[in-house]
Amino acid sequence: MEPPRPSPGPSGTPGTPTTRPKQAEITPAGGLNLRESPSSSGAKLATIPQGTLITLLEEQAGWYKTTFADQTGWVAAEYLTLVDPSGSDNQPDKPAEPKTRQGVITAANGLNLRDNPSSSGEKLVTIPKDATIQILAEQSGWYQTTYETKTGWISAEYVSLIPSEASDPPPASPPAPKKGKSTAANGLNLRATPAAAGEKITTVPGGTLFEIIEEENGWYKISFDSHTGWVSGEYVEIVENTDEDKADDAKADEPAVNPNPPSEETLPEITIDLSVNGTVYILGGSGVISSTAQSIIEGKAFSKYKENLRDFPPLPAEIKKEEPPEEEEPDDPEEPAPPVDTEYDPSREVPVDPFIDIPEYALAGKVIMLDPGHGGPDPGASGPSKTHEKDNTLPIALALKDILTQAGAEVLMTREDDSSPCTASKYTELEDLKARVALANSCNADLFISIHNDAFTNPAVNGTTVFYSAANPKNVESLHLAGSIRTSVIDIIKTTDRGVKPGNLYVLNNTKIPAILLEIAFISNPYEEARLQNQTFRENAAAGIFRGIYAYFTTPIPKD
Ligand SMILES: [Zn+2]
Repeated sequence: MEPPRPSPGPSGTPGTPTTRPKQAEITPAGGLNLRESPSSSGAKLATIPQGTLITLLEEQAGWYKTTFADQTGWVAAEYLTLVDPSGSDNQPDKPAEPKTRQGVITAANGLNLRDNPSSSGEKLVTIPKDATIQILAEQSGWYQTTYETKTGWISAEYVSLIPSEASDPPPASPPAPKKGKSTAANGLNLRATPAAAGEKITTVPGGTLFEIIEEENGWYKISFDSHTGWVSGEYVEIVENTDEDKADDAKADEPAVNPNPPSEETLPEITIDLSVNGTVYILGGSGVISSTAQSIIEGKAFSKYKENLRDFPPLPAEIKKEEPPEEEEPDDPEEPAPPVDTEYDPSREVPVDPFIDIPEYALAGKVIMLDPGHGGPDPGASGPSKTHEKDNTLPIALALKDILTQAGAEVLMTREDDSSPCTASKYTELEDLKARVALANSCNADLFISIHNDAFTNPAVNGTTVFYSAANPKNVESLHLAGSIRTSVIDIIKTTDRGVKPGNLYVLNNTKIPAILLEIAFISNPYEEARLQNQTFRENAAAGIFRGIYAYFTTPIPKD
């Protein structure tokens, strides 16, 4: 098929000399393709990211010849903004960056400042309604701010942004576009509006890297696969920009010039899965991976799994087996199973034997400290049926103690009844946590396992998360333990897998032994609240934790 007739070149900027400009800026958000010949059917050499300044070498029928990343080729003129290098008056207009440096608290009863961007973060102070706060940073629907000398995180949902004053000095250079990565294993819905009720446009696969165009109430506006829409910030991990990755992953072709299907051969899609024991697996045959991923694999760029990236063990069975043809659309993290209104059926909780395929006294000689979250004056999170986290964490820990004891381990507990281990004259949450850490650090235990329930404002959110802390001196072991427990717990209780996450949590940061914090399920989700009260569920959760501990001791830690 004939390539479409290229469109005419750009007209000169009014007021500039009519001599041909020497430089131009790339305007499409997804970048602009550099092609071998001045035609949209020319072979693609590279994608030049938005905002890149290029030097124009030659013009031909609406295409400019230029050089980018050591390659010389052609770009479509209509997606360039010409720049007059002689003066600054004719710099291309750029849309004003939304300035979001200040906000006002809108929550009627005030808003909790927490020590990390999660509703399970420890509460530092409550900021009253209508207080004005400075936004220092932003992450997954949370804002970092300082209030009364304390710096922490608040849910963006209850903050109304106020534009900063016009007198603010402009940033020295335009900030690099923020990038995010989908963390929803089964894909993340792209919606027409920033709400779970927004019309679904398409599904963004887990692990997809994209540029964040805009942020609103915990939702990110992104472009994916030629669609623009909104994804829930809860399932987006913000990715640090490097010079290298600006050029990567750009997907947009010259936007919408060619009504015909692209004539170039589509490269096979590669999935890079960072989720299995922190090991990188490249699936789907040969193809091209981004230079960022390549750098991470070669150990040149940062990854939180860097320790494991130089070793390529054989693929585990669950990866190796052929994927069955996809029939159903991926699970929707915003409309997850179980839905909020699913009626709980306790007969579906089937008791599991924790010891299947595990030898007798498998943990003889091991000392394990269990930490049932909250207790005493601190109920922890509460569910819609007014049940309390502290009343779920203790029975799970006690069931786990039974199993571990049967397996020959010595078990220590931070509490064995509805009390706080805090011995300070005045109870505070911090003193309570300090007491738990002091117990863990004084008893020569091999592991510290903290058991909690999660909670969130949206009752539909559900699933299991395992936290470890990079600040823990045994962080490599902690990550390995977190991965083992995640796998075995989800395998038994079949909750939504929210993965292993680094958490800035007091008990994990300050313990000196391998430590994890398990958020078993969401007490704020009515279905999971009901499950958490079921004794079979509690014992099965304990069985899952036990099997994860056993796997931790019997599987080697991935090598550096
Ligand atoms: Zn908790």
